Amino acid sequence: MEDIASLVRPEIYAMRPYTSARVEGDQSARIHLDANENPYAPFPGGPEQEGLNRYPEPQPASLLSRFSEIYGLPVEQIFLSRGADESIDLLVRGFCAAGRDGILITPPTFVMYETAAEIQGARVCRVPLVPGSFQLDVDAMLAACDADQRIKLVFVCSPNNPTTNAMERASVLRLAAELRGRAMVVVDELYVDYSGRPSLAREIADQPNLVVVRSLSKEYSLAGERCGITLGHPEVIGVLRRIMPPYPLTVTAIRAIDAAISPAGIAYGRRNIARVVAERERVREALLRLPAVIDVLVSDANFLLLRTEEPRRLCAAMAEQGIKLRDRSSVIEGAVRVSIGTPSENDEFLRAFELCAPN
Ligand SMILES: *Cc1c(COP(=O)(O)O)cnc(C)c1O
Repeated sequence: MEDIASLVRPEIYAMRPYTSARVEGDQSARIHLDANENPYAPFPGGPEQEGLNRYPEPQPASLLSRFSEIYGLPVEQIFLSRGADESIDLLVRGFCAAGRDGILITPPTFVMYETAAEIQGARVCRVPLVPGSFQLDVDAMLAACDADQRIKLVFVCSPNNPTTNAMERASVLRLAAELRGRAMVVVDELYVDYSGRPSLAREIADQPNLVVVRSLSKEYSLAGERCGITLGHPEVIGVLRRIMPPYPLTVTAIRAIDAAISPAGIAYGRRNIARVVAERERVREALLRLPAVIDVLVSDANFLLLRTEEPRRLCAAMAEQGIKLRDRSSVIEGAVRVSIGTPSENDEFLRAFELCAPN
């Protein structure tokens, strides 16, 4: 796609990507003496260690075909990374030349977009979410892109961390349509399955400058194994494959992902998502009854954002009770972010909150 290629850093097409032994040559060979691996299993050598002495497949075909069924996109439109964080980093590196190109973000939002841009030396343009509703200010975002033609990536977090709300679908689609050929719209959908709303991934067919980032961390309980999924036009996926680390996923991660996305694994994940969603509503209602709570936003994610008079003191007092919350009052006045735990963790949280919060 002509449109997308013109947005990619030309250096990325000019360079020759690294090819590992795991990609070059016949992978079904009987004896592998091509990658300088140690032929013995690592300590202590039990069945769980089997295969750890070998380099993994960079983009495992079995996982790609399963994700293709799950997301309804061909494998050429899917890229697997070591967490969504790595995907964000690679997108910035692939599209933004240091000192020349920029990204657009909509604060208050996930901080990693800005961090990735700073590491790359890309400029950061900020168009705040509409106060109160925390929705996208599409007109202002388009005006910012008009004013700065070197904005290559527009990051939209939906549902947004930390404000908990999903962005209006029509706004994101309008943004993508208006920016087609000028910038990519990257939609971070890390919490979308908690929202009950459909992913925007199916819209990529009509909006080739749309990129959707998913992850198994928040929805499918695999934060510790690191698995991000990027869905996009084959040209975008091709760019990510050119610049990815040689082996983004470890052998153990591939095994854990394989189990988590099996039909039984997905069913198990969905049950847990439903449990968290039910708890989210229960905790929100309980918090709203407490005098120290000013408000709690309606959440489309697996966390709540509450506002209180003394957020810092509250977080410190809760920490003394062994309960760690995230003070977000530096970005939203009075805001504290709380993840939804198990029912008993949530009960403990609510009990401690009543003790700690000033009335
Ligand atoms: C947690 C989080 C990420 C990072 O996810 P990983 O897949 O664990 O790297 C990305 N975006 C948002 C909005 C997050 O909250």
